[in-house]
Order: sequence, then C-alpha cells, then structure tokens
Amino acid sequence: MFQILYKSKNNNARVGKIETSKGIIETPAFVFKTYNLQKSLNEETLKNINIQIIKTDAFELWKILSDEGINFSTGIYDILKWQKPIITDSGSLEILKLKENNPKKNIIEILNSGINFFDYQKRLEDYFDSEKSLKIQEELNPNIITAFDLPIEWSENKNIVLEQTEKSHIWQTRFLEAKTSNQQVLGVLGGGIDNNLIELSLRFLNKLSFDGLIINNFLKNPDAEKLIQILKIVNQNYSENKIKYIKNIQSIQELFLFIENGIDMFETELPYKMAKNGFIWSLNQIINLNKNEYNNDNSILDEFCDCLICKQEKTKQEINWQIKNKNPEGFKNLLTHNIYFLNKLTQEIRESIKENKLKELKKYYSQI
Ligand SMILES: [Zn+2]
Repeated sequence: MFQILYKSKNNNARVGKIETSKGIIETPAFVFKTYNLQKSLNEETLKNINIQIIKTDAFELWKILSDEGINFSTGIYDILKWQKPIITDSGSLEILKLKENNPKKNIIEILNSGINFFDYQKRLEDYFDSEKSLKIQEELNPNIITAFDLPIEWSENKNIVLEQTEKSHIWQTRFLEAKTSNQQVLGVLGGGIDNNLIELSLRFLNKLSFDGLIINNFLKNPDAEKLIQILKIVNQNYSENKIKYIKNIQSIQELFLFIENGIDMFETELPYKMAKNGFIWSLNQIINLNKNEYNNDNSILDEFCDCLICKQEKTKQEINWQIKNKNPEGFKNLLTHNIYFLNKLTQEIRESIKENKLKELKKYYSQI
C-alpha cells in the first residue's frame, strides 16, 4: 500500500512509503534493475548500498527457467537470493527488444490477443499474453508486479498510436481481470508523446484498480522537456495518491526535475553507462577516470563516500589502471560507487523534500 507522508510546498515533490510484506520502501525510491545478482553486484554489496527494492523481468526469468522451472520454484526470493522488496516487469518490452537485438533473425508478430515471437539464438518460438505474464508473475510472487501492456512505438500517424494504446488498455484490463493474488500492481501509460492520447490513456487507466503507473512514453532517446510536459498531464489527470514510476533518467538534474513533478520511483541505466565508460559521480562533479591525470593520483574516488570501494581506500590510480587494462573489476568498482552515490542522493532528496530544501540540493548538483 502506498501512502504520501509529506508534500512539498513549492512543487509536486512528495515523500511517501510503500508497505510490502518484505518491508517498507521509502519514496522517492531508486529501483535497482538486475536479472542475476551473481552477475552484477552481489547481495552483500547491495546491502551495503542499502538498496530498498530490486527489479527483474518476467520474460527474462522465464527464458532462463522455462515454465516448469517457474512452476517448481519456490518463488523469486529464493531464485534471486534477495530478501527485501522486488518488482517484476511484465516482459512485453523485453519481447519487443528481440527484434532490435537481431532484426534479421528474431521475429515478432503482434496479434490482437498477444505477441508471437521467435528468438533465433535460443531457437525459442512461443507466445506471450496478459494471462501468461500474470501467471509467471504470480508464481514468482514478488511484492509488486506490472501489467502486460503493448509498448507504443512512436508514429507520426495518430491513428496508429491510438490503435496501439487501445490494444494496450485491453491487455492491461485482461491482466487485472485474471489476477487472483493480492500483489500490488502497476499499469503502463499509453499515448506515446501525443498530449491528447496521453490524457485519454490516463482517464482510462485511472478507473482501473492499479496501485500506480509506469511512465515510459519514450522507448528511445527520451526528451526531458517533453517528459516533464507528460508528467504535468499525469498530475492533472491521474489520482494523486497512486505511485508514479519513471524509466529513462539521463542525468541527476533530470532526476530532480522529475521528482519535482511528482515521481515516486525511478530506474536508470545511467550508473552502468557511466561505469562502462570510466565515469563516476564524485561530490557534485562527474570525473572521467580514463584520463592520464589519474595515472599517479593516490586519492580515493570520493572522500565523503561510504561505499565499499571508497571505504577500502581504492585509489583513482588503481582504478585508472584497471579500466585501461580492461580488468572487469574496474567496472564493478565504478558501478558499486555509482549505485551507492545515486541511492544515497535519493535518500538526501527525500530528506530535503521534508525540510523544504530540495531547491538548494538541486543547485548543489547543478553540474551533473
Ligand atoms: Zn564510493
């Protein structure tokens, strides 16, 4: 259950909490996305970072485990070996991504009832729909699940976007109708980037018994200005006391803007992309550790950071050497630091909303 505890006097930012059987999630919350904790950051690291909630995807887990594996499993908490709240995605977006990953050999066919697909690499041909996604998510049994939607491919032709949005609404309604668990559930906003169609989608989804809404109206190249316009439409047309979840954050300044406009949960590829390219957040700056100036720099990444990497006093020189030699530890070290930074910043944001100091905090981070 979601509850708003504090509302900013200056904008639409709010602090709240989501109660789950695995504990409370304080919002705004950073959601850590992973398919396999062993492959990304391990549980000990995530505990040190104090991650509140992790997210995984029904389709990705189904590909690994198959119907039988999910059926015989004792649920997602045993699979992921994680004891705090978990949210699952419906799988629809990951299925559509198959086409992108291998346009010539993977096949996607969107039907009225669901999606047929062929994954060439895995030689896997199957069909996914609302009922299948729901069954997997109910059997995995995370705290929060996501309705099976049709991700809207942006088109200049408004009729095509309308058609996709209406199909998405039908799939999401079917998902809710088939649901028998008491898991919390998020819907997915349609309408692409057309203001009228977004409004239409909001009016429809607001009548359904969702606990909140995922806003992912840009599948590629998100435009922050347009997203803020979308959030304003959401604030005007969607229940205030429901969760608002956004994907695709491109910078810390954007994060502040989205939170000022009422966002309660977010996920982002940013810490990964930065770590992959040798970048970290340090204090209120972005540092590129590939630079030669760090060859002989014995200082740690961030003297005020309490992440495992900074506490172990790993130096910029050491990590510069690791990334130049393509040592995978270099990426993991940077990722650990970046995820810690973002999660800690989100905590600071919650505090600053309560103290009406969000504006000052945003200003301090104005360069990143
Ligand atoms: Zn650190």
